[in-house]
Amino acid sequence: MAEIIPLRPRKPCPICKKPSSQKFHPFCSNRCANEDLNSWLGGKYSIPVVEDEDEDGQDGLA
Ligand SMILES: [Zn+2]
Repeated sequence: MAEIIPLRPRKPCPICKKPSSQKFHPFCSNRCANEDLNSWLGGKYSIPVVEDEDEDGQDGLA
C-alpha cells in the first residue's frame, strides 16, 4: 500500500478557505487574489459595480 505523503502543508486561501494554489499563492485563484487586493485598497480603486444607479433620484416616482 502506498503511503500518501502530503505535500507541504499549505495555508488555505484567506478569502474562501479553499486550498491555495502555488500559482496564486496564498490564494486559490486569481479571483480571490483580486478580492484581497480590493479589500486592501479599501475600495478606493474598486471596480465600478453597478449597485445603485439611483443617486439623484431622477428616475424615481413623480
Ligand atoms: Zn479562494
